[in-house]
Amino acid sequence: MDHICIEDLEVYAYHGLYKEEVNLGQKFLISVKMYFDASKAGRCDNLTYSVDYAKVCSDITKWMKDNRCRLIETVAERLASKLLTELPAVREVEVTVKKPWAPIGLPLECVSIVITRKWHTVYLSIGSNMGDRKKYLQDGTEYLKKNEKVRVLKVSSFIETKPYGKVDQDDFLNGAVKIETLLDPYELLDLVHEAEDAAKRVRTEHWGPRTLDIDILLYDDLVMDSEDLTIPHYDMMNRDFVLDPLREIMSDWRRIIYPGCP
Ligand code: ATP
Ligand code: CA
Ligand code: CA
Repeated sequence: MDHICIEDLEVYAYHGLYKEEVNLGQKFLISVKMYFDASKAGRCDNLTYSVDYAKVCSDITKWMKDNRCRLIETVAERLASKLLTELPAVREVEVTVKKPWAPIGLPLECVSIVITRKWHTVYLSIGSNMGDRKKYLQDGTEYLKKNEKVRVLKVSSFIETKPYGKVDQDDFLNGAVKIETLLDPYELLDLVHEAEDAAKRVRTEHWGPRTLDIDILLYDDLVMDSEDLTIPHYDMMNRDFVLDPLREIMSDWRRIIYPGCP
């Protein structure tokens, strides 16, 4: 993908574990690669469609001086989040933080960390069969939106459905939500649980009535199976109440039915 590079931006700052690093400060060199589609900027010769690297350099310099982290890993992580949340065109970043004066008492050219972070595309299913069901679904979506590492892109219409599995309970209202997120799958699962807790969901029986249920259906092309998290959702293919709203908001829907199709 197209990218703009900033190489070895020099900043004097006070990040570090050791006393002398915190008190005396040291030189850091910051490099970033910002991935985005540069074709429109290239065609129009207009900065509006690109990334203003002069502003990025001055923002990084200010951030480096205003903040204190113990680890260069944390410096890189926070800079990556800052760039991805503040620059709408940028989909992915590679951030390198170098410490040429690392005080380890031995001669070395430089020590550095390199990380890559990106926006991930995720589809969620949401459901409720207690109280004001529509409000629970809307509030759940709003809860996710409040997190700066989540952007809600599409929300399907909500459909009335019969209970699945355990049928002696009230009808459900179900929907699907497309988001993009900087959270990893486990961080996203934690956020989903927080949203369910905010709706005062109580788990008394498996597949029992709930104020709010949010399941992670798809996370990019990720396939994973751990004790706490299975992606794609293990039973989505068998649930019309999941698939119908998903079809409404998923343009590459065919890929679920025909995996591997273009
Ligand atoms: P089902 O998963 O069959 O729809 P449920 O949604 O009622 O049932 P919950 O009680 O909400 O089940 O979730 C139980 C656990 O499932 C969660 O604590 C979570 O660790 C795990 N889980 C595994 N994969 C996923 C996923 N893709 N999305 C959400 N939770 C998941
Ligand atoms: Ca569920
Ligand atoms: Ca669930």
